[in-house]
Amino acid sequence: MTNQLSSLEEYLKRFFGYDTFRSGQRQVIEQALQGQDILVIMPTGGGKSLCFQLPALVQPGLTVVVSPLIALMKDQVDALQDNGIGATFLNSSLSMEVARSRQADILAGTIKLLYVAPERLLSEQFLPFLNRVQERIGIANFAIDEAHCVSEWGHDFRPEYRQLKSIRQRYPQVPVMALTATATERVRQDIVQQLNLNQPYIHLSSFHRSNLYYEVIPKQKRSFPQLLARVQQLKGSGIIYCLSRKRVQEIAEQLQSHNISALPYHAGLEDQVRAENQTRFIRDDVRIMVATIAFGMGINKPDVRFVIHYDLPRNLEGYYQESGRAGRDSNPADCLLFFGYQDMATIEYLIGQKSDPDEQRISRQQLRQVIDYAESTECRPQIQLRYFGENFPGNCGHCDNCRQQKPLEDWTVEAMKFLSCVARCRERFGMGHIIDVLRGSKRAKILDQGHDKLSTYGIGADHTVEEWRILGRSLLHQGFLEQTTDGYSILKLNPQSWAVMKGQCVVEIAVGKQSEAQSQNPNDSVSNETTALLFDHLQQLRKRIADESSIAPYMVFADSTLKLMAQGRPQTVADFLSISGVGQYKLERYGERFLEAIRQYCVDHNLSTLDTAVNYSSEILASTAMSQDAGSLSDSQMVTLQLHQQGLTVEAIAHQRDLKPTTVVDHLIKLIQMGQAVDINRLVAPERQQIITQAIEIVGDIALKPIYEHLQEEYSYDEIKLVRASLQQGRLEF
Ligand code: ADP
Ligand code: ZN
Repeated sequence: MTNQLSSLEEYLKRFFGYDTFRSGQRQVIEQALQGQDILVIMPTGGGKSLCFQLPALVQPGLTVVVSPLIALMKDQVDALQDNGIGATFLNSSLSMEVARSRQADILAGTIKLLYVAPERLLSEQFLPFLNRVQERIGIANFAIDEAHCVSEWGHDFRPEYRQLKSIRQRYPQVPVMALTATATERVRQDIVQQLNLNQPYIHLSSFHRSNLYYEVIPKQKRSFPQLLARVQQLKGSGIIYCLSRKRVQEIAEQLQSHNISALPYHAGLEDQVRAENQTRFIRDDVRIMVATIAFGMGINKPDVRFVIHYDLPRNLEGYYQESGRAGRDSNPADCLLFFGYQDMATIEYLIGQKSDPDEQRISRQQLRQVIDYAESTECRPQIQLRYFGENFPGNCGHCDNCRQQKPLEDWTVEAMKFLSCVARCRERFGMGHIIDVLRGSKRAKILDQGHDKLSTYGIGADHTVEEWRILGRSLLHQGFLEQTTDGYSILKLNPQSWAVMKGQCVVEIAVGKQSEAQSQNPNDSVSNETTALLFDHLQQLRKRIADESSIAPYMVFADSTLKLMAQGRPQTVADFLSISGVGQYKLERYGERFLEAIRQYCVDHNLSTLDTAVNYSSEILASTAMSQDAGSLSDSQMVTLQLHQQGLTVEAIAHQRDLKPTTVVDHLIKLIQMGQAVDINRLVAPERQQIITQAIEIVGDIALKPIYEHLQEEYSYDEIKLVRASLQQGRLEF
C-alpha cells in the first residue's frame, strides 16, 4: 500500500507536475486501478480529468474517453500532448488520412488515451476498429465525460448518449468510469441506470466553490446602464448570458459602442464566426463574450473572472453550472444575477413552446425555484447546494446576503407548527395548502379535505401568508423540509424535520425587509381575530340567503367581498356600496340584511365603528379625490378613470377616445395599481373574479400564460390582468 501511495504521487508529479492530489482524486484513482465501475461527481474545476487520465497512463491498454464536444476534446488532447502523454482524438473534423494514421498509432500501442464523440464510438465503421484494439492491446477503461448528458433530467440531455448503454453489452469486462459536474440525485441515479454501471464506487465532492462571490441585483427598468456600470468595475475576462439571440446581439453591440471589448456568441451565427469569436475570447483578444447558454460547455478557459446572468436562468441547476464557469483556476471570481420580473414572460413563452405538459409543469416549478433563490435573504451557496441535496451549513461569509447580515430570528416554534401541519396533512400537499390550514382558511379545498378538523388548523393566524412563505422557503433551503420535483411541489418531511418537531434543533431565519414592514403593520394583529369572527358571521348569513333562493353562496357575495366587509365594518349605505363586490343591484337586494348584521355585530362586541382597523371605503374615497397620489398617472389615464367612474364600459371608453380596448384596460390596471377607485366588479363579474383568483392561487402569480391556460382559455388576458392587479393591491385578497 505504502508503495502504491508513493508511486501514485510520483506519477502525479511526473505526468502532470502536481505535488498533491485534490480531494477525492486519490480514492477514485485507487478504485479505478482495481477495475471498479465508478461514478465521479465533482464540481467544475474540481479535477475530474485526472481521475481517468492518471490510471490510463499506468495501466496497460487503451483508455477510451467519450466526450461530447469537439472543442473540449482538442483542448484536453493538446494539454496531454504538452505533457508528453500519448493522447489523440478521432472525430468528424479529421480527414480520412489523418484518421487512418491515428488508428494505426493506436494499434501500435503508442497512444494511451483516445477521445471520441459518442455517435462515433457506436458507429458501424468504428466498432470493428474497437474490436481490433481490444484483441491487440486491450481496452483498459471507458471514461464517459459529461455523463449527465445521458439523463433527460439533466440540463443537457443528448440522445446519442443513450446509446452508450450498448458498450456495456459489447465489452462487459471493461470497467466504466462516468464523470459529471451535475449533482442532482435524480440525474445521478439515471446515470448509474442508463450506463448500466455495476455496483459503482461513487465519489461525491462538496459542490461549494469558495472562490466564487454570488450576488443578485434587482433589475431596473433601464437595466443596460446598470450592466454597463458593473462591467466597467469588473476586471478580466467575463461571460454575459442572455436569454435570446436577439438580446445577445443587442448587448454585444451596446457594449462595443461604449468601448468595451465584447463579442456575441449564439447558435444563429455562422459556424465560422462563432468558432472565431470563441477563439478570440479564449485567447484574450476579446474581454467579454455575450452569449446564450449555447456557450460555455466546451470552454476550458480557467481564468474567467466573472459570469453575469443578465436574464433570469431557467433553473437553478443550469445557473450553478453556467455561473460555475467563472474561476476554474480557484482564484476569486464574481457571479452576478440580474433579477427582474419582466424576464418571466420570456421564460414563460419558452416553457409554452414545450409540447409535453409534464415538461411544462416541471419547468414552471424550476422557474419558481429560481425566483425563490433570487428573492431569498439567505446564504446563496447554501440554497444552491441544497438544490443538489448537499447540506452546506450556510454563512459562507462571501455572498451578498451573508455580507449584508440580515438579523436572524428564532422561528423554531413557527417551524414546529409548520412541519407538524405538513405531517397532519399526510405529506400530500404543497406550501399554499399548508399555509391555508395554518391560517385557518375556510376555502373549499380545506373543508373538503376535512383539514379544518386538524389540530394545526388556524394555529398560525398570527403570521401573514408572506411570512409563512418565507419560513417555508427557508425550511426547504436549510434542508429541514423536502419538496417533490415532479412539478407538483408536494412538501415531504425528512429526519431533520422530525428533529425540529422534537425540539432538537433551532430554526433561525433571516426575515427580509418586506415581511418586517408587514408584521409591523398594527392593523394586522389587532384586527385579525375580530375580522375573522365577523367574516364567519357574514358567511353564515350569506349561506342562509343563498339557501332561501336556492343559489350558490358565492353568487350572493364573493369571499373577498365578505372579507372587505369584515375588515371595513361599513355602517352606512354609502360605505357599503363603496366596497369592492357591491354593486347597485346587490346593494338593493342584500344591503340591508348585511348592514344590519354588521351593525348588530359591532353592538354585541362593543366595537366602535370609526376606528375600525382598515377603513376601506375612506381609503377609496381619499384616492378618488385624485390628490397627490395621482402624480405619476398620465393625463390620458386620468381621463380613462373619469369615464370609468361615469359608468362607461371599457368598449365605450375605447370607442369614445379612439383607443384600443387593451389600452384602456392597461390604463385601468395602472389606476388600480396606483390605488385609484376602479370598480373591478363592473369590469369582471364577481363569479369570474373568484375563479380567476383561484387559478392564480393554484398556478402561482408567475406569469399570465399559465393562468390563462389553467382557465382553459375561457377567461381573457384582460380579465386576468385586471383581477391580478386588484389582487396584488389587496382589493380582492383573501
Ligand atoms: P473538471 O473537469 O473537474 O472541471 P479539470 O479536470 O479540468 O476539472 O481540472 C481543473 C484544473 O485543475 C485543471 O487546470 C487541472 O490541471 C487542475 N488540477 C487537477 N488536479 C490537480 C491537482 N491535483 N493539483 C493541482 N491542480 C490540479
Ligand atoms: Zn453566503
